[in-house]
Amino acid sequence: MASVFTKILRGEIHGEILYQDDLCAAIRDIQPQAPVHVLIFPKKEIRSVAQASAGDQEILGRLLLVAAQVARDLGISERGYRLVVNTGSDGGQTVSHLHVHLLAGRAMGLPLA
Ligand code: 5GP
Repeated sequence: MASVFTKILRGEIHGEILYQDDLCAAIRDIQPQAPVHVLIFPKKEIRSVAQASAGDQEILGRLLLVAAQVARDLGISERGYRLVVNTGSDGGQTVSHLHVHLLAGRAMGLPLA
């Protein structure tokens, strides 16, 4: 079954798509945890970074480059942002389709809750 992110890209459920190319896409998170909260994910449904393989190297690199590009496009690059990749249940991953959270618009500390 297609992931919620794939369904958004297909137009099967509503979502705000900010960017897409041949490998990746970026959407606004439906429950933002910061003034800016974007999800960048590969079109290929890799379940998590733990399931990525050497053949996914280009996709993994593209995800970070797209995150940086989206940050520039949103005007948050200079003040900074946080990129988060939750992995597995202890990592807090709830959607089994690899994604990078781009969070910005407020100062962030460690540790995370
Ligand atoms: P995770 O917890 O797996 O790291 O992050 C999944 C993210 O997907 C969460 O921040 C959650 O708010 C977001 N999310 C879940 N369902 C939807 C949806 O239907 N639309 C959008 N735009 N985001 C979603």
